[in-house]
Amino acid sequence: MRRRLFLFPIEAYTHGRFALLTQKGVPMCGIFGVFGARKAAELTVIGLHGIQHRAIDYAGISTTDGKNLYSHRGEGLARQVFADQKTLDRLHGQHALGHIRYPTTEDDPTRENIQPIEGSLGGTPFVLAHNGNLTNTGELHRKLDHCPMKTSMDSEYIVRLIENEYSGNLEKDLKQVFRMLKGSYTLGILFPDCLIAVVDPTSNRPLCLGELDDSYFICSETSGFGGLDVRFVRDINPGEMYVLSTQGGLPWQFGDPEGMEKKCRFEGNYYALPTSKTFGEPVDEYRNRLGQALEVHCPTEGADIVTPVPDSATWIARGYARSGRSGVERQVIVRSHYVGRTFIAATQAKRDSILSQKFHFAPHAIEGKKIVVVDDSIVRGTTAPKIVAKLRHYGAKEVHLRIGSPPILHPCLYGINTPKIEELISAQKSKSKILEESGADSLEFLPLDVQKKLSPNPQSFCFACMDGQYWHT
Ligand code: AMP
Repeated sequence: MRRRLFLFPIEAYTHGRFALLTQKGVPMCGIFGVFGARKAAELTVIGLHGIQHRAIDYAGISTTDGKNLYSHRGEGLARQVFADQKTLDRLHGQHALGHIRYPTTEDDPTRENIQPIEGSLGGTPFVLAHNGNLTNTGELHRKLDHCPMKTSMDSEYIVRLIENEYSGNLEKDLKQVFRMLKGSYTLGILFPDCLIAVVDPTSNRPLCLGELDDSYFICSETSGFGGLDVRFVRDINPGEMYVLSTQGGLPWQFGDPEGMEKKCRFEGNYYALPTSKTFGEPVDEYRNRLGQALEVHCPTEGADIVTPVPDSATWIARGYARSGRSGVERQVIVRSHYVGRTFIAATQAKRDSILSQKFHFAPHAIEGKKIVVVDDSIVRGTTAPKIVAKLRHYGAKEVHLRIGSPPILHPCLYGINTPKIEELISAQKSKSKILEESGADSLEFLPLDVQKKLSPNPQSFCFACMDGQYWHT
């Protein structure tokens, strides 16, 4: 069956029927799964640690010994939640599925919003882990209004639909369920005898397949394979569910990706680890190209040094400095890895306070210099003024902001945690106002047309946060 992709203006979402959302989305997550390996739970902790940059707030792992399921979930980093050997010892079996999650301020604190989510299919237990965000939750809510929900995550709809559609033919039943879903869903589903990796036809969020000896692995990013020396095999294709069982791997195509692909461009610009290969593209090389293009279109004559706002912008700054025309690379800002997340903090006062402790500066390299500061994006506009003020405090002669993404003008509906439109500074204020408030000498963003040209086959990418072209499958 071929489904069509529709493009919507933002009003359809902010004022129309999609404002009906009931269960909330699951922004910014990571999935790791193991099939057929001793100490599967321990391997999953290592795998989740390799993608920990995707979410640091909650972690969960479920395992199976081919008969029963065992689960443990908690708040914190994967290594913290699974620090206790006794906890790991209780997670029996050679197959495992893990999930890490970054909450939203809309999370319902009275529910356990930690994945994998448990379900039961004709008496057989299963668990599901989701990365992405469904866009037809109003419709799904009406379909499932008789089902009590245990979480406030949209992912639970998928679990309940799988239970509802049960007929005993797994391939047919899952295909039926996926046809009811709209939006972005990359999934791991663990049954006692198989692990299924699913990527929706838009391939909005990545998922890859790896192997080591006779064991199979799935992960949101290739960086999750590094700690285990797992060999990257390939990405799960758009519209594919890949079934791993004792018979090996079996690809089932459930959706036609023709004209449907909408790979998230922000995965490359900001989210993924630079050592990963995402959507077939090495992230470090892509960020280098972003930086080079930024310098070509927004040079800074006479600059002494180019410094990134670490960590995501490091490779963009490296690309920016490559020609040598706009300053030489010199990192004068270092990120502290011991402060919490700035971005999700509930109030601006908290975000300000965390940010002021987040960066260390090298005063000796700053005084008297004309400095280019490269960041990957401006979202609320919290970071830039803080950095500029510190550089001025340490005696910078001039500070020029260069941003490796176009202005972020629209909230993401598909799984990146961007705030509401009222909080997106570029949607609310002119570039000259943002420059004035930042205190910098100049400010330039990567132009949107350049951003699009940097993507091979741009129509297969989602730029909705930059151009407002929302899509609906
Ligand atoms: P802001 O300070 O609100 O302008 O956000 C921009 C900074 O936050 C940049 O340094 C980005 O690397 C980072 N950033 C961008 N998007 C996100 C996100 N969705 N979650 C967390 N951090 C982000």
